[in-house]
Amino acid sequence: MTKEDILNIKQLLSTPKKIVIVPHKNPDGDAIGSTLGLYHYLIKNKHQAQVITPNDYPSFLKWIPGEANILKHDTQTKTCDSLINDADIIFTLDFNALHRTGNMEPVLAASKAIKIMIDHHQAPDDYATYVFSDVSMSSTCEMVYHFIDMLGDLNIIDTNMATCIYAGIMTDTGSFRFSSTTSKTHRVVADLIDKGANNSEIHNNIYDSNSYKSLQLLGCALTNLNVIPESRTAYITLSQEELNRYDYKKGDTEGIVNYGLSLENIVLAAIFIEDKQEGIIKISLRSKGNFSVNDMSRTHFEGGGHTNAAGGKSYLSLKDTVEKFISILPSYNKALNNE
Ligand code: 5GP
Ligand code: MN
Repeated sequence: MTKEDILNIKQLLSTPKKIVIVPHKNPDGDAIGSTLGLYHYLIKNKHQAQVITPNDYPSFLKWIPGEANILKHDTQTKTCDSLINDADIIFTLDFNALHRTGNMEPVLAASKAIKIMIDHHQAPDDYATYVFSDVSMSSTCEMVYHFIDMLGDLNIIDTNMATCIYAGIMTDTGSFRFSSTTSKTHRVVADLIDKGANNSEIHNNIYDSNSYKSLQLLGCALTNLNVIPESRTAYITLSQEELNRYDYKKGDTEGIVNYGLSLENIVLAAIFIEDKQEGIIKISLRSKGNFSVNDMSRTHFEGGGHTNAAGGKSYLSLKDTVEKFISILPSYNKALNNE
């Protein structure tokens, strides 16, 4: 984002505008935190702002300030479409290709609004008027903080904004432990605490709201953990039947893939989750070091993401998807064993 872009955006935001803010489908903590953090900032600056998510999100995010005002496109399509059609500006946050919004893609693509992308994933598509893209950033939330800073408005960050932004940085950095966490991230987070974010309470709200069944589902996932030592790889499967058995709710499988990476010597972890309703196997990949799961997912699983965290999907059965994964591993053995 150039100095000129910032001046243009400043000018654009100097009078009240109709603004829609959109995250990716199946929004996570960073998606909800960044959209709501920006929402509070825009409302405070007298804009008409509305967060529209493509669909629902996990209940452990349903306390973030402003969350109750979110509209969901899949259940409130007409209202959402007319807000999108009437918008002067559309912010797209935490994704960089319109297909990541699922069924919202056509209405977003057709909209004449000025589009502003804020995102930290690799290889941005060319749909936005203004692009703030930085793959070195821990999270989109951290970028929202820098965006507000570039507009010269850090002083107006209040407890609500700080809480939203903190929540997303915390979830996307695995509580500040992933390698994307920098000293700059910690400086941002320190300032957010000074501005009113209650770090301990935010952590409790997100991570200490497990149900008994969701812990049992974790137990099932860990029982299904497999290791392929020669590829330094661990993978987990969860079938639809297993999800049903433990009363699966959106968000229950979040973070489970990371258990594979916690094993000694393992540098690649995967989880394969059957979704009978969508007719797909949802895949999450995680790695350590320079091994790019973004590349692996783009090449084999119609997905993408970051070097160390990516998602994708497969239309094969659960068994065949795992077989495909196992069959491609040998071609990566050299890279995996160099980590
Ligand atoms: P997760 O495995 O937690 O769903 O996603 C890991 C990372 O990859 C996140 O940053 C997420 O936004 C991204 N991601 C997940 N699924 C996809 C996908 O299908 N396509 C792309 N391009 N990115 C994805
Ligand atoms: Mn993110």
